[in-house]
Amino acid sequence: MRIIRDFQCSNDHITEKFLENTVESIECPECGEPSNKLISPVRSHLDVVTGDFPGATAKWARGREKQIQRERKAVANHGDDAAWDVAKNR
Ligand SMILES: [Zn+2]
Repeated sequence: MRIIRDFQCSNDHITEKFLENTVESIECPECGEPSNKLISPVRSHLDVVTGDFPGATAKWARGREKQIQRERKAVANHGDDAAWDVAKNR
């Protein structure tokens, strides 16, 4: 199963990736240091609602059929057209 995850390197760069949930670490795209999986990816849902990361949101939405309805409701409440388009076009 592929899910969105947050990784953090030793320089405190946070990277959001859509990967197999068995992946425990990646190379930080900013500094190249090993980046380890964060225990609680608490930011992810907010990112979808605000549309701050449309690319990541699109990938994430395709793998999250079960939560689309809830996200659409959240997007509608916020009136965010960009995020709404992502949900529609997944
Ligand atoms: Zn880094």
